[in-house]
Amino acid sequence: MHTPVTIIGAGLGGLTLARVLHVHGIPVTVYEADPSPSARTQGGMLDIHDYNGQLALEAAGLMDGFHSIVLEGRQAMRVIDLDGSVQFEEADDGTGGRPEVMRGALRRILLDSLAAGTVRWGHKVSSTRALGEGRHEVTFADGTTVVAGLLVGADGAWSRWDRVPGVTLLGDAAHLAAPNGEGANLAMLDGAELGQALAAHPDDIEAAIDEYEQAMFPRSTEVATFEGAGVHRIDSDDNTAQGLINMFTEEGR
Ligand SMILES: Cc1cc2nc3c(=O)[nH]c(=O)nc-3n(C[C@H](O)[C@H](O)[C@H](O)COP(=O)(O)OP(=O)(O)OC[C@H]3O[C@@H](n4cnc5c(N)ncnc54)[C@H](O)[C@@H]3O)c2cc1C
Repeated sequence: MHTPVTIIGAGLGGLTLARVLHVHGIPVTVYEADPSPSARTQGGMLDIHDYNGQLALEAAGLMDGFHSIVLEGRQAMRVIDLDGSVQFEEADDGTGGRPEVMRGALRRILLDSLAAGTVRWGHKVSSTRALGEGRHEVTFADGTTVVAGLLVGADGAWSRWDRVPGVTLLGDAAHLAAPNGEGANLAMLDGAELGQALAAHPDDIEAAIDEYEQAMFPRSTEVATFEGAGVHRIDSDDNTAQGLINMFTEEGR
């Protein structure tokens, strides 16, 4: 890898990419607007799915750390109707494919797995300028600048990047999903797969980006559409409890 990778945003997606690049010995820097890792509470719990989020953690070599923060028993489920009767119950036998963790704990594992100084806190990107040959000058709110070989927009839902040579996106920046419990999982898988593609094509960034995007865009469209439709079906169902049970059993799996 001749040109360093510059990631904008230290969310779960950007940090997973940074970790996978680190595993492959590829230099990377993450610029994050928050002034420190503890500047904001990181929200509540996340289900990490065996078909996307866990694949990303495997690529990142962090499954042991992940298992150490799983909240046991939290995969148990119970649907209760308006009259208090239990309509559906499923115990957590420890074999489920979507164990629950605290988002902050997962982010901490990713942060701790990076070399010191990889994440530059308090660096809010204010603008970028193309320099040619895929390189970009990135300007921060304090007026300082860096030149990026590959620029990755991992800055979440309000991201505004154009897909031009030398730039790609991941997570919410690439595909803002329905609120269906997939967004963080998808962001992590995007990060892992982009990292693996860059490692597989060390001298051809555009080939790496093409390989990554050819899988990422159809996958995110499919999940947002299928799962999003499932959420809508529950909301509009006359029998909400039954709609939920259908989703948790055969119909939704
Ligand atoms: C209430 C709620 C509940 C959710 N529950 C789930 C769930 O259970 N399961 C699930 O999978 N998903 C869930 N999601 C979705 C999930 O949170 C997102 O899809 C996921 O966080 C996207 O990760 P990301 O890395 O792409 O972006 P983000 O996590 O948004 O990270 C982006 C980072 O970029 C930084 N940034 C932004 N602008 C700049 C800038 N100009 N310069 C530098 N840095 C910048 C931000 O400070 C932030 O740290 C939920 C979302 C919400 C709102």
